[in-house]
Amino acid sequence: MGNPRVEVDQDMCVGSANCVEVAKGAFKLNDEDKAEVDDPTAVSIEDLREAEEQCPVAAILVEEDE
Ligand code: SF4
Repeated sequence: MGNPRVEVDQDMCVGSANCVEVAKGAFKLNDEDKAEVDDPTAVSIEDLREAEEQCPVAAILVEEDE
């Protein structure tokens, strides 16, 4: 299995920072309080999935390579 593909939709993100808390190191807030992907390999795929689920506006997309 390769690295997961992780994206944050900057237009949808409301800066709640759930993802930053749930998957520490994988996401960071930028100067505009929008989440950006930092290092997706910093956490497990389960944590990435959890961040995806915890986002209140479903701005996070996580896709695993097969
Ligand atoms: S959980 Fe969703 S809305 Fe909140 S900062 Fe992360 S991407 Fe943005």
